[in-house]
Amino acid sequence: MYPRFRHTIALVALLSSASLLHAHEAHVHGVGKLDVVLDGQALSLHLDSPLVNLVGFEHAANSAKDKAAVQAMTRTLRGTGTGAVFVASPSAECKLSGVKLESAALDPALLGEPAAAKPAAQAGHDGHADLDADFTFRCAHPERLQKIEVRLFDTFKGFNSIDVQLVTGKRQGAAKLTPAANSIAVP
Ligand SMILES: [Zn+2]
Repeated sequence: MYPRFRHTIALVALLSSASLLHAHEAHVHGVGKLDVVLDGQALSLHLDSPLVNLVGFEHAANSAKDKAAVQAMTRTLRGTGTGAVFVASPSAECKLSGVKLESAALDPALLGEPAAAKPAAQAGHDGHADLDADFTFRCAHPERLQKIEVRLFDTFKGFNSIDVQLVTGKRQGAAKLTPAANSIAVP
């Protein structure tokens, strides 16, 4: 069991360093960041994006129009709207098992999350806000996973590019996705 244990530690270390790097990168409208990790049957995607890319604004959703925009985004990202935003190779049989959405600007209830014990901290808000989204899939045949199509560009008009970091048991890599090149190749 020792080699397996060591492998898990290495993945955790890679993930932590990737998250730290991202935390210090600028908030650039039109640009999203996506961390993809395949560990056994578990496929995890973490999207970090300026909120404007998804709903067209970054302030609290006060008007009925704003709330409707956030609710439409929530349905799409949770897979209950029209079409999936991440489409894995069908033969890998990956099923979405969990979604977590968070934004400092938005009420958790609008994002389909349980109400927070304390209201989200609004202090220090500089007029910009991000959406942090975690997607978890379970793949029956992870060895057959060859690509993941990212349909965020079609669904949300605010994305110009998405910087991807990929970690699998075999390797790690990086890619820049655009509307014309929206698939992640999985080695
Ligand atoms: Zn912004």
